[in-house]
Formats: sequence, C-alpha cells, structure tokens
Amino acid sequence: MAVGRPKRKNPVLRTRQATLPPAGRSRVALGMLRGPARGGLELQTCADCGAVQYPPREMCGACLSDRLVWRPHDGAGELVVETTLRHAMELHFRERLPWRSGLVRLDGGPTVVAHVHADVPPAPARVTLTAALDRSGQAVLVAVPPGAPPDLTTDPKLAEMTCDPKGRKALVTDAKSETGQAMVRALVDAGAEIVWAGVAAPWIRMPGFDAVAALPQVTVVPLDVTDGRSVDTLAAEIGHKVDLIVNTADHHRTHGLFGERGVETAATEMEVNYTGLLRLARAFGPVMRARAMDGPKGAAAWVNVLSVFALSGWPAQATWAASKAAAHALTLTMRAELQPAGVRVVGVYPGPVDEPWNQQVLPPKLSPAALASAVVAALRGTVEEVYPGDVAQDWLARLRADPKALEREMAR
Ligand SMILES: [Zn+2]
Repeated sequence: MAVGRPKRKNPVLRTRQATLPPAGRSRVALGMLRGPARGGLELQTCADCGAVQYPPREMCGACLSDRLVWRPHDGAGELVVETTLRHAMELHFRERLPWRSGLVRLDGGPTVVAHVHADVPPAPARVTLTAALDRSGQAVLVAVPPGAPPDLTTDPKLAEMTCDPKGRKALVTDAKSETGQAMVRALVDAGAEIVWAGVAAPWIRMPGFDAVAALPQVTVVPLDVTDGRSVDTLAAEIGHKVDLIVNTADHHRTHGLFGERGVETAATEMEVNYTGLLRLARAFGPVMRARAMDGPKGAAAWVNVLSVFALSGWPAQATWAASKAAAHALTLTMRAELQPAGVRVVGVYPGPVDEPWNQQVLPPKLSPAALASAVVAALRGTVEEVYPGDVAQDWLARLRADPKALEREMAR
C-alpha cells in the first residue's frame, strides 16, 4: 500500500475539539482504579464489620472503623432506576447526549451510580456492575447484562472507552518474531484496517512470516529500534496514521548475573528492550498524543510487551529481567504523558513465553498466540495492565500478597 499524505482539511468544517470526561478524583477515590486497571471490580470493604462502601471514604459508614480495604466484588446487582440524560454541564457528555445512566443496588451492598450499557433491558433489571477506565484513564462504573463477560464494544457510546482494533491502523514492532507474527495475525483477525509489520533485518527468513506478510491488511515496513534514523524515518512516513502501537521488540538471552563474561549481552538487551522503546516513544508518542481525539477511530493505545519478571527480577535470566524492569519504568512515564491526552498505555506482563530463548524453562509456558489474543482482549476492553496466563496470574497474586516472600522464593 502506498504511503500518502494526510487528506487536506476542509476549511469550512468545524474542527472537533478534544474533550475528555472529567478526571478530578479525591485521593481515596483513586482506589477505584485498582480493579479496572487490571480488569475487574474492587470496592472498599470494612475489615471489621464487612460493610461494602460506596462512594469510597475514610471511615466505615456502618461502624466508623478506619480499617477499609479494597476487595474484589462480583458486581451482582439490580438496576433499580434509570434515566436518560438530555442535558449535561460537562462538554464531553454534552457532545454524546442522550446518555443512559442509572442506580444499581448491589446484592447485600450499597447503591451506586453507573453508566448503563445499551444491551441492558429497561429498569428494573438484573445486571452485573463492572468497572472500566474511561478516556481520561479514570475509573467509572458500568452496568452490563449479567452472565457474559462485559463487552463495551457493542455499545456505540461506551465503545469510545475501548481501543478496539476494528477499523484501526496498527504498527507491530519486531513482527518477524513468533510473538510479533502472532500479534499481527491477532490484530488482522480483530478487524484492523492496516497492520504495519516492522522488521529490522529483511534478509533473515523466519518460518511463517511470508504467510503473515501476504495477508492483504499487512504492509511490511523497515524498522530497527536500535537505529534512531530507522525509527524517525518510519515515524515521518506513517506516524500521522498510526492508531495502535504494539511493541514486541525483545532481545532475549538467558544468563544469570555471573553466567556471562563481559556485559555486552546485557548492554544489547538494554539497547533493544529499553533504549529501543525510548526511541519509539520519542518518535511516535507526540504525534499519537496530538491525534488522540481525531474522531472515534483516532490514536488510541500503546502496548508494551514486558514480563512479570520486570516486577520481581529473575535470577535465571537476571540481565534480561533488568532490561524489562527499565522498560516497565518507562511505560509508567509514557502513561503519565499519553493518558491525559486520551491515549491508553498498556503494559503486558506474561510469565515465560514459549519461544526459542525459553527452551530450557520448564512448562507451563504461554504460547505467542495466547499472548496476542490477551493483548487484543485488553484493547477491546479498558485495562492498562495485562497478566496473561495462569503463571502470570499466580505471580501477580503472590506479588500483591507479599513481595518480600516472592523475592526469597525466586532466589531458590
Ligand atoms: Zn464497618
């Protein structure tokens, strides 16, 4: 496909101004983020009397205890009353009227205000209360039909909170690797209009890549994240059109701290996994930020494939884990820069992936296809941290329960 100039703007048409939903939250209310950031609902619960609290507060509304903890909640409840807003003081909602909203009484818990999904029948109706991140990156509550996993993409207004690949243009870095190929295929299957497959070394033949490159939605482009000129050239060509970036570029070797003479391998891991990401972020980030409000299909999300070992270290692959930790830290900063404009930054934290450099690692390992479909599911939802597979989920639970205990267990 030819790379063209952006369409000339019609000077008569009104320019759509960026409006985001209101982002102000109190510090205690920011606790609401815990659930939807990872995909779930968590509510404040009293550790003394068990009362579920809403809205978030400093002391229990039932017994005045200050021992309030965030706990997962199944969200089962009833939409008891609803209204359709036809006026709004907030610009973001004013442009999206009418807006459906209602009160959900949780089973055995409080009553909350929630957005109501178009597929929910008129009140009174059984619903599942779920939490999502809106375009400001703040937690909001949404009532969805019970039974099935929540799907915001089927409600035209709520779909704006997601980064659904359907109809969007995506760039996948290191698209020749097994993970890169799986990612390209998953985005095509999810309905992406164009997937640019970035390859660093066109002369290297990788099994399966010819078939991926032949897909009608796929355009192979040169992209070496270790070469600033290569990154800048591609950004100048397609940067103004990219809606989604999935960075899978990864230099992966499997040495412990004392397992290798010299530090060259570790330096290359940093060069690809950290400095490569930095080059991409500096080249593509500003233009994505500027395009975040270009209509419902504007620039939407940046995905970095990291590792659970970025969060805990891994003695068996010490230097690689450290490079992923650096990329994780940069991911947090990218979120601070891009989220306020409406671009979601997603960190993906799998356990060991079934790829050549993990050959010596005992199963269970996550297949590249499972990793890619988890990324697509995240984009079709609203999460910003993804822990795909059982190993990563177990890891996350142990990390949240006691990071020190996990550190000692890793050392064995
Ligand atoms: Zn209480």
